[in-house]
Amino acid sequence: MELLNKLDTHLQLLQDKHQIRQRRAVETPCAPRLTVDGRDMLAFCSNDYLGLAAHPKVAAAMHEGVDLYGAGSGASHLISGHSRAHVQLEERLAEFLAPHLADARALYFCTGYMANLGVITGLAVGDRNTEVFSESLNHASLIDGGRLSRTTLKVYPHADVAALESMLADSTASNKIVVTDSLFSMDGDLAPLPQLLALCERHGAWLIVDDAHGFGALGENGRGALEHFNLRSPNLVYVGTLGKAAGVGGAFVAAHSSVIETLIQRARPYIFTTAAPPALAHALLASLDIIAGAEGRERRAHLNALIAQLDDGLRLQKWQRIPSITAVQAIVIGANEDAMRASAALWEQGIWVGGIRPPTVPVGTARLRVTLSAAHTAQDVAQLVEALNALERRS
Ligand SMILES: *Cc1c(COP(=O)(O)O)cnc(C)c1O
Repeated sequence: MELLNKLDTHLQLLQDKHQIRQRRAVETPCAPRLTVDGRDMLAFCSNDYLGLAAHPKVAAAMHEGVDLYGAGSGASHLISGHSRAHVQLEERLAEFLAPHLADARALYFCTGYMANLGVITGLAVGDRNTEVFSESLNHASLIDGGRLSRTTLKVYPHADVAALESMLADSTASNKIVVTDSLFSMDGDLAPLPQLLALCERHGAWLIVDDAHGFGALGENGRGALEHFNLRSPNLVYVGTLGKAAGVGGAFVAAHSSVIETLIQRARPYIFTTAAPPALAHALLASLDIIAGAEGRERRAHLNALIAQLDDGLRLQKWQRIPSITAVQAIVIGANEDAMRASAALWEQGIWVGGIRPPTVPVGTARLRVTLSAAHTAQDVAQLVEALNALERRS
């Protein structure tokens, strides 16, 4: 059939460019040691930065949530799917982040992807008077949110505060929205948030910060990039995801209560979808207890020690590690097939490190992306460092 031929031609093109992605089936809980496609592997690719995805207390809370609320929510939040567990989670998140936001409230979304679509489209009130200023390395969900908002979309170069400043100064829009990842997920570097926030305050713009990789992992108490940079402002609109360091799933927006009320009324990815199972929200209460408490501090300290160990141990000459103080460590190799060959060689040794290719990263910067977790041991990281150093020498 002609329609199918078109698809096959397209797939063959991806194959030729070494861009076909494949999924692997994991048979055990998310952890550094897992069984995948029948093989026992040491994995450095999850976003489970604190090791909470399979934490006994979080898993037990999930069971308890099912006992209390059953399996599903049954409806969207604005109909009858809004459960007491969702209310408790939102109150707990708002309280947790209150030191950084004015009159803080939080809103729980099914996924971070949806939260980002919702927050940008929801804040674009009076569509045509809104301009969205988007950082060039932003996550796909922020890019899609900008497109869906039907506003004028302007992209500023990576971490370029001066370029953004002149764009904001030139703008005549009555509603300005700057959106940025806090921690760039494929590079591991941090956005210059204090400077961006100062600009936004000067120009009367919102600053939407997507802290998907920072929430729970950064800051003394796990309050993410807000705490790491000690930010506080009514202009801040914070997006945290709960499937990464928090180990469960879903996401939230935290901001001034007027922002949250606006999103409840306007954000279509919030309104027109079935509420996430209440058991997830119930499990997240347990995960927040860990993040905010002594165990969370210990886990972050261990994670930081592992990051320092990797930093100390790698002796790379041809490959280029992107400087990063975070759990995301990118090693740029260059060509797609070279990066995929390196990933395959590690796989053969029982080490699972993802190879990242265009279009996720710019052409010519295919890379290995190592993510560390508090669930890793120093021996795990030593094994990885040794394998990477040896592989680069042989390549
Ligand atoms: C993972 C991620 C998201 C999406 O969050 P999900 O809850 O997985 O949908 C959004 N932004 C960034 C930067 C991410 O890394």
